[in-house]
Amino acid sequence: MLIQMNALYLDPSMPKRSPDMVGQLSAPLQAGEVALVGAGPGDPDLLTIAAIKLLADCDAIVHDALVSEAILSLGSINAECIYAGKRGGRPSADQQDISDALIRLAKENKRVVRLKGGDPFVFGRGGEEARALVRAGVKFRVVPGITSGVAGPAMAGIPVTDRTVNSSIAFLTGHELSDESRINWPALVSAFPVLVFYMAARILPDLAERLIVAGLSESMPVAIIHNASLPDETVEVGTLAGAKSGSIKALPPSIVIVGEVVDDRTPWKGS
Ligand code: SAH
Repeated sequence: MLIQMNALYLDPSMPKRSPDMVGQLSAPLQAGEVALVGAGPGDPDLLTIAAIKLLADCDAIVHDALVSEAILSLGSINAECIYAGKRGGRPSADQQDISDALIRLAKENKRVVRLKGGDPFVFGRGGEEARALVRAGVKFRVVPGITSGVAGPAMAGIPVTDRTVNSSIAFLTGHELSDESRINWPALVSAFPVLVFYMAARILPDLAERLIVAGLSESMPVAIIHNASLPDETVEVGTLAGAKSGSIKALPPSIVIVGEVVDDRTPWKGS
């Protein structure tokens, strides 16, 4: 099956695609259409086929800070490249302005790729942009991407689920540490043996403390994967006590994974 699919997509000598096997995600964009596309964690090898095809044939690319240069270089040379970065702690584009820009480009009959790191609907505000496009009557499609919360641990050899450890997993944002946190921390740590945090690098010591107070052991393993899948990827492994004291540190962007699956790590790079 895999070989057949590869042949179907990648072998230019293959005559016609079988319509029942091929989805519509990679079909050329129409004038005035927007694609909300996930760019994965950074390595272009982790793009979807639809993402590559749409990037290569569009009029405008509106991208976030976390989309790598290597991926942007796959964009059509004719495409206008618009930076719409939002990044913790830095001046960021207003969400309304980004949605307005997408709508304006579509109304100018451009074929627009809205490129977001990871998956557009995982802590990526893709839902807000989709709703704004619907309200404006703009045709759009969504191309999922590989989210960094799964890809990051995998690059470090950490399975986010392991039969011996967990049958559930929680994905969270570090922003939940704020005063308006909607999380019941003791309930969280007792329900989910594995926690994966996005946007938690800057608040790691506070986060570790919060988890310990909520009931996790100080010796609970923690891994920090920084710039997952990129050439300067780093992996740090330690414990909640170490994260609290600062003996293991996280630089943004990082995925922080807490749970015994970290002990099941099988480093595979360089093997
Ligand atoms: N939609 C994205 C998440 C956007 S929120 C996704 O699905 O991956 C931004 C956060 O994603 C960062 O703060 C960081 O926690 C994480 N992140 C994105 N790319 C990353 C990478 N290459 N390595 C580690 N963390 C990454």
